[in-house]
Amino acid sequence: MDHALKNRVALVTGASSGIGEATAFALAAAGARVAVAARRRDRLEAVANKIRADGGEALVVEADFGVEAQAQRAVHETEKAFGRLDILVNNAGVMYLEPVIEADLARWRRMVEINVLGLIAATQAALPGMRARGDGHIVNIASTAGRVATPTAAAYAATKFGVVGFSEALRKEIYRDRIRVSVIEPGVVETELRDHIGHDATQKAINDWASSMRQLQSDDVARAIVFCVTQPPHVCINEILMRPTDQER
Ligand code: NDP
Repeated sequence: MDHALKNRVALVTGASSGIGEATAFALAAAGARVAVAARRRDRLEAVANKIRADGGEALVVEADFGVEAQAQRAVHETEKAFGRLDILVNNAGVMYLEPVIEADLARWRRMVEINVLGLIAATQAALPGMRARGDGHIVNIASTAGRVATPTAAAYAATKFGVVGFSEALRKEIYRDRIRVSVIEPGVVETELRDHIGHDATQKAINDWASSMRQLQSDDVARAIVFCVTQPPHVCINEILMRPTDQER
């Protein structure tokens, strides 16, 4: 274990799989105490147990980030257990893709609640403690879909463009409190995200496209996040846009 994040406390949302899971391990390996949050408690327990087995400290927080009060509670539980929250990684997200004309709007509403409103609620809950200490870091996981909009991804892109816009406005509100804001915008990462697309033709097209390239792995994104949160206090990495070498759009 290295100690770049010794005495730091992190909360990673969506830590039961993929990028969030890898990020929880990477932050713990850098010395942070890590709260891991998502809905699947069994998966979170496995992540926490591995962190503990490697000599770290972990807290499991079962929460649905599509529900504002639960997103806020996750932050408060972390602060209660570890005494503070220094790094909030807003990673929980879903990707429901289909053409606008046939879209299930209830599903899209839920995606907005998870990808945008849950991220906003968790962020808002984290700010008072960070402001009081004059220190803190919010890391928001957007996507290349927050920079480039493509067919079938209209609502997903709306959520990720939303995360990018929210993050930039937030940074301008809180930089004087020495709270940093970073946005990570990955291209295709090989995770479970595509399992829940919910539209067979789109899912097949995306899977075919993804398998045509050497995809990013969750660890690749976790390394970028660790890079952001281990900079000296006067350095704020505002944005990291990262694609597989083989990805064009
Ligand atoms: P995964 O599906 O592996 O991980 C998604 C995580 O979010 C899981 O831990 C899941 O946990 C959690 N989650 C989903 N819904 C909720 C909810 N309502 N409440 C709490 N947690 C929730 O996919 P990725 O690791 O790929 O996705 C992580 C983030 O990265 C997402 O924001 C995604 O948009 C973004 N991203 C992914 C890319 C990719 O190509 N994979 C590219 C660019 C960005 P659980 O189901 O247990 O609740």
